[in-house]
Amino acid sequence: MTLQARNISVKLGRRRVLAGVDFSASAGRVTAIVGPNGSGKTTLLRSITGEVAHQGEVRLNGADVANLQPWQLAAIRAVQPQSSSIAFPFNVLEIVRLGLSAGLSAADSSVPMKALQAVGLNRFAGRMYQGLSGGEQQRVQLARVITQVWEPVVDGIPRWLILDEPVASLDIGHQFTVMDLARDYAARGGGVVAVMHDLNLTAMFADYVVLMETGQIATTGSPAEVLTDETLARTYGCAVPVNTTPPAQIPFLLPQARVNMTRHSA
Ligand code: ADP
Repeated sequence: MTLQARNISVKLGRRRVLAGVDFSASAGRVTAIVGPNGSGKTTLLRSITGEVAHQGEVRLNGADVANLQPWQLAAIRAVQPQSSSIAFPFNVLEIVRLGLSAGLSAADSSVPMKALQAVGLNRFAGRMYQGLSGGEQQRVQLARVITQVWEPVVDGIPRWLILDEPVASLDIGHQFTVMDLARDYAARGGGVVAVMHDLNLTAMFADYVVLMETGQIATTGSPAEVLTDETLARTYGCAVPVNTTPPAQIPFLLPQARVNMTRHSA
């Protein structure tokens, strides 16, 4: 089962932000969308989720999403936007419970607490959302999203987590918590598509990487195939040596030379 976007083009104002993008992600894998600022990652994600007007076709588990009702979509995919502002004074558990009604799943009332536990916030259930730090709010939103599609596979049909920079405001420990959670979801058969900023985390946790550049896909493949010196220099416009960690040969980026240069000249 796949999430496929074909020939997606988006114009915002006078700007063509996406130009004929073909994208594919498979259930059971973590797919990361990476690329420089402004390359179109969020716009691609928002085209896939139907939040931005676009040309082209999006198919989820084989069905054209244009033919699905909002409640049918909500039952098979949950979306975490980059930021979510809540105008009303809800507590944490109330926010996470919103996922239950959105997903129209079996409405197992124990799921929101399990989701809070999964993001390390079970003790925050009664706290007011507005009083939390940015990183804590981000994890609450993830708990809400996971609640919506708690079981990765229902009746043999995979469900999808679609996440826009899910670890952007998180410390390294919680980055690992969230990425472990994404990996676990995929390992149990669900689909995960995430816009990622951090290329080292991408290398560690993604199965498949889609690298964007100025509204198009520059290249796709495994982290080792995509995250190379040449590709990163061309796409990001800076030289960052890529090494690999034995024995798994996972790429990692360590801008050592720049650190040394800065320190010497200081
Ligand atoms: P990324 O997520 O890769 O940083 P985005 O998808 O957010 O990139 O944006 C892609 C491009 O579209 C950027 O150049 C951005 O300035 C532009 N853009 C985003 N929103 C709008 C808008 N509402 N009107 C015009 N241009 C926009």
